[in-house]
Amino acid sequence: MYFGSVRFFKNLILLCVLVLILVPLALNVYQHHELASAQEQIVQLEAEVEQTRQQLDEVVQQAVEAEAMAAAAEVVEAVAQARFSAETPAYQELYPDFYAPQPLAEQSQESGVIYLTFDDGPTKNTDRILEVLAEKDVKATFFVTGHTDGASLERMREIVAQGHTLGMHSFMHDYAVIYDSVEAFLDDMYQVFVLIRETTGETPTVFRFPGGSINSYNSGIYQELMAEMLRRGFVPYDWNISAQDATSKPLAAEEIVENVFASAAGKERGIVLMHDGSSNESTAEALGTIIERFQEMGFRFDRIQPDTKPILFGYLE
Ligand code: ZN
Repeated sequence: MYFGSVRFFKNLILLCVLVLILVPLALNVYQHHELASAQEQIVQLEAEVEQTRQQLDEVVQQAVEAEAMAAAAEVVEAVAQARFSAETPAYQELYPDFYAPQPLAEQSQESGVIYLTFDDGPTKNTDRILEVLAEKDVKATFFVTGHTDGASLERMREIVAQGHTLGMHSFMHDYAVIYDSVEAFLDDMYQVFVLIRETTGETPTVFRFPGGSINSYNSGIYQELMAEMLRRGFVPYDWNISAQDATSKPLAAEEIVENVFASAAGKERGIVLMHDGSSNESTAEALGTIIERFQEMGFRFDRIQPDTKPILFGYLE
């Protein structure tokens, strides 16, 4: 083969034809390959877009739900607030430190127990009563009023020191004033609460309503008084045995003993109402005999504590 020969041209033409066929074919194959990989990428990207959209939807959904829940919580709060202010008496806000140290305790009652209680002191008659209690090794309960002289404050400390219970009975002991309203009652009881706390360092928890939990002075508000004092953790005690010694003319000691045992008949458990006011000399005189006779009947004595089940007028024993 030599340059310019027929054979040379034939081969050249053949080569050109081959090139013209193969190059586009090769390009086509290459482009096809590129396209396929681009399509794969597109499919992958579409999948990613879809996934991101789903995630976004979830986030939006969660945000909407959180907002709805926050709005609902606000509504619930507003309703609770409105209900609270509609149902809550304003006097619940009074005296924010006028609370028992612990919430109401679970209470138990034992039969065969006598709780001696002394109201309206302390006075000089408290001294003799404390002596008799010490001689007989008996613990009792004193529901005191607002005596603020030095000797009375010393007696309050002595009551606590000797292991008796010191409870609240009111500061003024003026039925018309303290039972005028719930506010008036709280105002008065708070004063004796503070007096006891500051004098003895002990926070009183038990109390006795002057005249008992239901009387002719508090008949319009006794349920509110009871509910409010219980809400504050204080435990009220009425009585089921009475010495009937709260008289203007002092009784003889024998009459006091007689009154106690007349009202004690048939009782398996008793809270005895007695007084250690300034005119109650004969109560102190009668006390030794009262203790001995209860002991002869098989009773034992205890002081009232917040877990002592109360005896209350108007409630079943
Ligand atoms: Zn009283």
